Amino acid sequence: MPEGDTIFRAARTLHRALSGQIVTGFDSVLPKLTRVDFDKPLTARTVEKVASHGKWNVMHFSGDLILLTHMRMSGSWHIYRPGETWQIRPIHMRIVLKTEKIWAVAFHVPVAEFHTADTLRRREGFRTLGPDVLAAEFDANAAAANLRALADLEVAPALLQQSTLAGIGNVFKSEVCFACGVHPFRKVSSLRDEEIACLMSTARRFLLANVTEASGDQMVTYAGMRRTTGRSDFSASLWVYGRRGEACRNCGSAIQSYKQGLEARTTFWCPQCQLMNPAQALRKSVSGRD
Ligand SMILES: [Zn+2]
Repeated sequence: MPEGDTIFRAARTLHRALSGQIVTGFDSVLPKLTRVDFDKPLTARTVEKVASHGKWNVMHFSGDLILLTHMRMSGSWHIYRPGETWQIRPIHMRIVLKTEKIWAVAFHVPVAEFHTADTLRRREGFRTLGPDVLAAEFDANAAAANLRALADLEVAPALLQQSTLAGIGNVFKSEVCFACGVHPFRKVSSLRDEEIACLMSTARRFLLANVTEASGDQMVTYAGMRRTTGRSDFSASLWVYGRRGEACRNCGSAIQSYKQGLEARTTFWCPQCQLMNPAQALRKSVSGRD
């Protein structure tokens, strides 16, 4: 599933390609969208801005019209020159937004809605988003308070809740827990202040590292594109995600994985670097033995 970094890069690419351009045509197979286009035509509006908010893509048009899309598991936006061959079969097209120079095409997009600024503010699931990990003004304290409020949840599923902080997905969930030495199955209530601070700052650092200009403008990505270890070697780009049975890059133990949370999303962790009972770790560091 695309995470906040992917959506951020896609929005940045769409913004650079489309902002300031006049819409010359709009097609969609989604009746909900074509109805709005019929009543309040997209054509002749200006694309003012394309931005990401968590895992949402928000496309602003002149005249207070906003196209909100969410990629879920398989959706993607592509940009093409008019007449260029699409990389995905047209049968999977959901939206085509045309300007004189560029066509933006959304494939497989499961959530697509038109809004005004007012209806967007009130939309369920958008209204309740926590601080955006990639926002210039990311509020780590507010995100930490949101996390702490989910005291009874396990840490990894709590990090996936977009109302805690917006943008973390399944890959970063595991990577962030590893980097902070936090067992992903611990209860949020067991976290010490410094562990929560570590989770927040690491989440931001990891996602920011994946939206640098050097990270490219790919519209589609997958776990293999991401890096958290800081190594340029492609095969060593992640700490634990997708590495079940392989040796931990820190201690050599076999990485474990298990489906977790109500949505049974797979979590990866190192049983040695991320202890279930942090008191054990504390004792160990104090005694320096066992
Ligand atoms: Zn380890």
